[in-house]
Amino acid sequence: MAHLVTLIPGDGIGPEVSEATRRVLNATGVPIEWVVLDAGAAVLEREGTALPPRVLDHIRRSRVAIKGPITTPVGSGFRSVNVELRQSLDLFASVRPSRSLAGLPTPYPNVDLVVIRENTEDLYQGIEFERGTPEARELREELLRLSGREVGEDAGFTVKPISVTGTRRIVRFALDFARAQGRRRITLGHKANIMWFSDGLFRSIGRVEAGAHPDVGFEDVEIDQLSMRLVRDPTAFDVLLLPNLYGDILSDLCAGLVGGLGLAAGANLGWEYAVFEPVHGSAPDIAGAGVANPIAMILSGGMLLRHVGEPDAAARIESAVDAVLADGEVRTPDLGGSSSTDELADAIGAAVAA
Ligand code: NAD
Repeated sequence: MAHLVTLIPGDGIGPEVSEATRRVLNATGVPIEWVVLDAGAAVLEREGTALPPRVLDHIRRSRVAIKGPITTPVGSGFRSVNVELRQSLDLFASVRPSRSLAGLPTPYPNVDLVVIRENTEDLYQGIEFERGTPEARELREELLRLSGREVGEDAGFTVKPISVTGTRRIVRFALDFARAQGRRRITLGHKANIMWFSDGLFRSIGRVEAGAHPDVGFEDVEIDQLSMRLVRDPTAFDVLLLPNLYGDILSDLCAGLVGGLGLAAGANLGWEYAVFEPVHGSAPDIAGAGVANPIAMILSGGMLLRHVGEPDAAARIESAVDAVLADGEVRTPDLGGSSSTDELADAIGAAVAA
């Protein structure tokens, strides 16, 4: 039976890399029933919402989706479709692999790590108070009353909640993921020496859960020290488990370690639903030019295939990307070549089918 997959092409370079990805996934021969649905700025203009209910309904039916990047216009009141998808579908885990690819000179060969980022809590939960507002004033007074500490009158606030429930599920997810992918060690990043009750909680729940599952190795490291160790020797790491903010920062850093945004694949996963997407944005500077690198989205498609129980097809996609890059003939401009999106996708598709 065909796998039902929701495809959201996105905007900017999204439709170009989405079409390229669809062609490569089809080249594996795995039967996929694609249902293409739009979300983003154009839909907002037509329908008054950037993420129509039919898109969410369809993802709930197909359980898996793949999306291209979606532009978030600044200051338009248009809530990020990405954030809304994560919250509506409870996609609490962001998974971003970073693997050195053959033939691409980077400072670090042999990197093969995965960043698992908690996607729903921490400073990104969206609880903020603007400086000078009555709410900020009230919060200052309450903080003075509760903690005896005075905060400057001109301060704004962003709240950092980290819960036992949210932490426990991301740690359990990371343990399951490590086991399923044959990975041996989890490194949890934190700043527990300063933020006892948020990062400290993240670390202590991590220790308890990992202690109960000794088949997967575990260490916890302060985030500043971890950053230093990562740039000195990223090959020393296997799975990084991070709260939301550190995860956002270090997953881009890890993408940079292996050659940049055009290559970085990702997934947002919950217990029920999975949405795969490249790490990069809609790249308005090159949109429509037909030169976007489709590899990040193609590799995200590979992750999708592994997720739906097609590991052989996923491995074929990864090997095809490796082979085409190692050959070096067909590369988009971001990789130093002059090929188009379609030419690179065709070369990868041909290698998949070979
Ligand atoms: P970006 O990732 O779109 O672009 C950064 C730079 O990298 C640009 O120079 C771009 O040309 C280049 N680049 C990105 N992807 C590439 C690819 N596949 N091939 C070749 N070059 C590539 O980041 P930005 O400019 O900060 O963001 C643009 C828009 O995308 C913003 O509206 C932002 O909100 C949105 N965005 C969306 C997502 C998402 O949908 N998941 C993620 C990040 C940013």
